[in-house]
This record gives sequence, structure tokens and C-alpha cells, in this order.
Amino acid sequence: MYEIVKHIDFCFGHRLIDYLGKCNQPHGHNGRVEIRLASDTLDEMGMVADFRDVRRSMQAWIDEHLDHRMILRRDDPLVEAIEALGQHAYVIDDNPTTENLARLVYEQTEALGFPVIAVTLWETPDSHATYAPTPVTATANGQPATQRAFGSPTHRAASDSLPL
Ligand SMILES: [Zn+2]
Repeated sequence: MYEIVKHIDFCFGHRLIDYLGKCNQPHGHNGRVEIRLASDTLDEMGMVADFRDVRRSMQAWIDEHLDHRMILRRDDPLVEAIEALGQHAYVIDDNPTTENLARLVYEQTEALGFPVIAVTLWETPDSHATYAPTPVTATANGQPATQRAFGSPTHRAASDSLPL
């Protein structure tokens, strides 16, 4: 099995609906996605996929849809307020948690034809979530995805002093 990993950084805003805690306030993150692709075989160039193609395709989609946008649940009243200002939120059916946004990027990567196995989204250097349809136990460098150098998995206790 061969695996490659691509990181893409972007800025986004969101808030969580029906949530007791600071994350129900509109706020923003300097986010990073880690896109993991894998294949049993390599193409004629000896690649799982060309890093440039992954960046070009996914950066374009993220720039168009997520970067510097508010990402909101469809029934969030903020959607209408932002539209009234002549701007556009990115609207999804689920709460825009780190987990759901990781799945969103995963599904888009898959839809663009890349052999994606997992997507991790960091909201902060110490909070991230991973979506993978089947369990993925190690990253390209052999470290478990939930125990990388940045540390602890995502949590959102209502007593947290900082918005996640
Ligand atoms: Zn947040």
C-alpha cells in the first residue's frame, strides 16, 4: 500500500446550533486539512496521485466554497442575515462541527476522483477530527492519526475557556 498526504490551509467561520458553550457564537479558525490518499498500485509516473493535481483541485474547491466563508447549518438564522448583506454562507445539512467538515472535504475529494482514505481537519493546533469510512490506524509517518504532535483529540466541554 502506498500513501501520500497533502495539507491545505484555509480560513473559515462557523458556529454550532443547539450547543451550550462558546462555539454557539459565530467565530473563525485558521484551519488545516490533511488529505490522505492511498493505492495498492502506482500510476505510470510512479505516483498514487500528483501532489500538484491534488492541490490544484482541492485548493480550488476550498477557495471557492469554504475559504473566508461562514459555514452554517441550513436552518441557522445567520444564513438569511448573511444573504441579506449580499454575501454567501456555505450551508450544510448538519452542524458544522470539525467532524462534519472533515467528512465534507472527504466527500469532495472522493467526488473529484482521488483515492482518498481519510481527511483530518484541524480547527486549532491542538484540536482536530478525522473522517474515514473505514478505520485508519496510522498516518504516513506511522503515528496514530489521533496522537500526532499537536496532541489531544477534539473536545468541546461547555466549561472550555476558548471557543473550539
Ligand atoms: Zn469553531
